[in-house]
Amino acid sequence: MAQLVQEYLDQIRAEHLANTDGALADYIPELARVDPDALGLSLCLADGYVYECGDSATEFTIQSVSKPFTYALALDRIGRQGVDAKIGVEPSGEAFNEISVDKNTKAPKNPMINAGAVAAVSLIPGVSADHRFDQILEFYSAFAGRRLSVDLDVYASEKATGSRNRAIAYMLQSFGVLDGDPDEILDVYFRQCSINVTSTDLARMATTLARGGVEPRSGRRVTSAAVVQRTLSVMVTCGMYDAAGDWVSAVGMPAKSGVGGGITAALPGQLGIGVYSPLLDAKGHSVRGVEVCRSLSVNLGLHFMSVTRESRSTVRASYDARPGVRVYELHGDLLFAGAEQVLRNIEQECSEFDVAILEVSRVDDIDATARRMLAGMREFLTAAGKKGFLVDPDDTLRLAGVPDSRATVFATLDDALNAADHAVSGPPASDR
Ligand code: GLN
Repeated sequence: MAQLVQEYLDQIRAEHLANTDGALADYIPELARVDPDALGLSLCLADGYVYECGDSATEFTIQSVSKPFTYALALDRIGRQGVDAKIGVEPSGEAFNEISVDKNTKAPKNPMINAGAVAAVSLIPGVSADHRFDQILEFYSAFAGRRLSVDLDVYASEKATGSRNRAIAYMLQSFGVLDGDPDEILDVYFRQCSINVTSTDLARMATTLARGGVEPRSGRRVTSAAVVQRTLSVMVTCGMYDAAGDWVSAVGMPAKSGVGGGITAALPGQLGIGVYSPLLDAKGHSVRGVEVCRSLSVNLGLHFMSVTRESRSTVRASYDARPGVRVYELHGDLLFAGAEQVLRNIEQECSEFDVAILEVSRVDDIDATARRMLAGMREFLTAAGKKGFLVDPDDTLRLAGVPDSRATVFATLDDALNAADHAVSGPPASDR
């Protein structure tokens, strides 16, 4: 149940905790000073419910994880045409800080490398650096569902050491890509990189993307579905720079990493992931962040190419068929996020019934993760002194490997209700 998912996360974190590969970013002292062992992991479901473990409350700077959000803001404010005129959408196959533009257009190849990110800042309409930055901070905060702040020490260091980014900005100005003063635009870029987040913020921000621009807790629309679609697209192809192909093959989610140690990953329609672990590989990605995402994707069946169908709103109806007997009618495909939603409902409501009947005859398909979770549900209900029955005429949900599953799986709702009557009131006198 909620507990079951929590245990999964704790277990995945524990599996990766001993990995001390990689090195802290050391181009500024603030990043070299953080605890190298920190590992925070957060998962935010489409309804805003968060699972978190480890150092999920530790703040760190967002760094390049900021790039998709500023790109989204530029799209939101000036529209796709205006943005496309200045920033491409092709993977560059280069490092994040490559001093490069497209040979023909002279525009940055994509918004996920520094050149494109600096150009994106210049597209945010504003009369001053403060005006531009205020919009950025407000936009990120709306994605996260809380007011974010800036680490002023990191900002000062970024500003003092950013020669390479300065080279990029002046190059873009010389090609006519940057509107405005390069130093003013860089100032905003350095501030945006220095915004503090936690792994839970990154999970929430990813979920707002996964929900097509709606922040799940407030239900507030932060930006349009079209902006999010474009943003997620460039995250897929360019978010992990020159490791994008490897990432998409192994993990299969639009994502973005930063040298602060954060990774955000969104599974459209389902959930968002945030990880914090500051030891980086040679390409600037969190070593354990990548590994944790890989495990989550495999263990929970999250690869977006294997999730082609709708898996939300799995509970079609729930009602009390008798006092103490609650029926949950499920439909669609049961994958991780759908099963999580079902189990959390049942856990929250379990003081209100003695028997839960899951009616799954309208479930089309169920993956291995969801099947394991339903097996866990029966154990949870038994431990809580309740019963869990399944109505499964097609055996879609046969709980392979679960002892005595036959005794609790029925072909019709009537059969299950009869068994529930026995369970609630004891067997009739004739059976005793
Ligand atoms: N502040 C860093 C830079 O601009 C961010 C880079 C990153 O996170 N990959 O170089």
